[in-house]
Amino acid sequence: MKRKIWMIITLLGITVLTVFFYRSGYELRLVPNEPDLRPETVQPSPRELTNEFKLSGGSERDNRGFPQRKIVDLSSRYPSLFYLHGDLEAKKIALTFDDGPDSLYTPQILDILKENNIKATFFLVGNRARLFPDVVKRMVQEGHVVGNHTMTHANIVNLNEEQMKQEILQAEDVLQPLIGYRTALFRSPYGSLGPSTVESIDTLNYKIIAWNVDSLDWKSLTAEQVKYNILENVKNGSIVLQHCSGSTEENLTGSVSALRDVITVLRREGYQFVTIPEILNIPYQKK
Ligand SMILES: [Zn+2]
Repeated sequence: MKRKIWMIITLLGITVLTVFFYRSGYELRLVPNEPDLRPETVQPSPRELTNEFKLSGGSERDNRGFPQRKIVDLSSRYPSLFYLHGDLEAKKIALTFDDGPDSLYTPQILDILKENNIKATFFLVGNRARLFPDVVKRMVQEGHVVGNHTMTHANIVNLNEEQMKQEILQAEDVLQPLIGYRTALFRSPYGSLGPSTVESIDTLNYKIIAWNVDSLDWKSLTAEQVKYNILENVKNGSIVLQHCSGSTEENLTGSVSALRDVITVLRREGYQFVTIPEILNIPYQKK
């Protein structure tokens, strides 16, 4: 009799646990520190991701792979023109967000920054700024700094010098009435650059801003993975790259939800969040 009762209790216990694990989506992880690379459920594309919204150089996915070594070479060759990070002694971090604005992810990022009273730097695409002028104005009202990320998100190493200058100057003209100044900060789409492009961007009076911490969020990573990529690599003076909009195949949900935790952890570690002109001590407006 006793044995029967125990068997029933055990079976009930197993059933309850099975239902719990199944319903809660909890999974037993044998390797707890292994980052989770699976993309989160694919979200439907926002309404505005039409042709106008396209990145002319293609998605990050198709274009990345520009060698980091080349970027490091450029920064040592042009130290007062090309920047990867700020002062390595100061406990400061600059958060940067590329490819916006849009009306889906960018406002969520702005909300999180506002809640935490953090000023960041946004590298905007001209034709998107034209689609969402109010989002750009909101950035400036809330104290963020805006930089130039070309008119159509072109891969500028594939353009001739004249075309490249047009890409940059057109974006500057679109941004100027929205932000109230001519930005002096440039970030190259896909990070692709060479010595001759760096020199001709210099003639347009820009400083080129790269990064030394890549969240790789354009791979539609989970929040856990984005957090891991940032927190494992961040140090004093870091410039962190995230995106506040993407191409139609990029899902930035993970990146947005990682941001809150990244801020909490880094604040607890004593980091101060500043803009690009503050961390590099350079002007962000053309005279
Ligand atoms: Zn970009």
